[in-house]
Amino acid sequence: MSNLTFFEAQKWAFSFVEKHDGERSAIELLLKGLRGWSSVELLCHYSEQLTPAELVQFKKWVKCYNDGWPVQYLLGKASFFGHEFKVNENTLIPRPETAELVEWVLADYPAQIQQLRVADIGTGTGAIGISLQKERPAWEVTLTDISPAALQVAQVNAARLKAHVRLLEGDLFAPLTGQYQVIVSNPPYIAVNEQRFMDKSVLEHEPNAALFASENGLHFYHRIAAEIKPFISAETCLYLEIGFQQGMAVKKIFNEHFPTASVTVKRDLAGNERMVKVEFNIRRDESNADY
Ligand code: SAM
Ligand code: GLN
Repeated sequence: MSNLTFFEAQKWAFSFVEKHDGERSAIELLLKGLRGWSSVELLCHYSEQLTPAELVQFKKWVKCYNDGWPVQYLLGKASFFGHEFKVNENTLIPRPETAELVEWVLADYPAQIQQLRVADIGTGTGAIGISLQKERPAWEVTLTDISPAALQVAQVNAARLKAHVRLLEGDLFAPLTGQYQVIVSNPPYIAVNEQRFMDKSVLEHEPNAALFASENGLHFYHRIAAEIKPFISAETCLYLEIGFQQGMAVKKIFNEHFPTASVTVKRDLAGNERMVKVEFNIRRDESNADY
């Protein structure tokens, strides 16, 4: 197979992956990824030939995709909230549902100029916190993660996207100081016994430490509820991504720790319960505030 045009290479790859239930959209992403093209650019260059090196690379990618590698790891990037984020096997590939969490925060805080202290806990690629900072440049956004390798990726993304964020390494709230008006987190929430329902490509390639949590997937919600108090004031809102069957349980956890809080569960576009907002409404004498 030599001197293939982009159109011929695509045709070959479509028939190759379709035999194995692969998706055409993945092939298009790989083909565009060879030259950093948009969909329109690919269309305009269909009759151009791949260089021999490009053909070798493309065939290698198609084979890896067929073996279960996520396209985003092959390309080293993923789209999220209109931005291109570097990803690798140390970071979760940001999901479309998570963009809905970002939208919820932005809808609740529409003012462009309001200065808020915001923390994104378990930031991975930095997807949530960086997207928020790009939309609300006045916000002082801190990204944390326990994984130094993930934070390195978040650092690259912050620099490439010119997002002014602070990155801190540590276990949940450990690296934070002071109070935050908005705290956001998409913590690991998959119960270990849910592995059998998961895609092979997620299980084999995405970091376990980003996915799984003990206590039926609820471990981090228990910890967040138990440890958040020093970092909140009466006005603080906490936004969490949750597993689609965890709404009731997460609401109960926060209601027990914070009886005066309002806890709202929200569905994603697919109709699944996917996010929780906790408005603490705590009395001043309950918080650890300095005032
Ligand atoms: N925020 C990113 C997103 O939404 O795409 C990544 C979310 S991923 C589900 C969870 C992240 O939490 C991973 O990056 C993982 O390294 C981090 N993490 C796991 N345990 C943690 C802990 N104890 N403290 C802080 N971060 C943790
Ligand atoms: N939504 C991710 C998945 O289904 C899991 C993310 C998480 O555990 N926070 O693979």
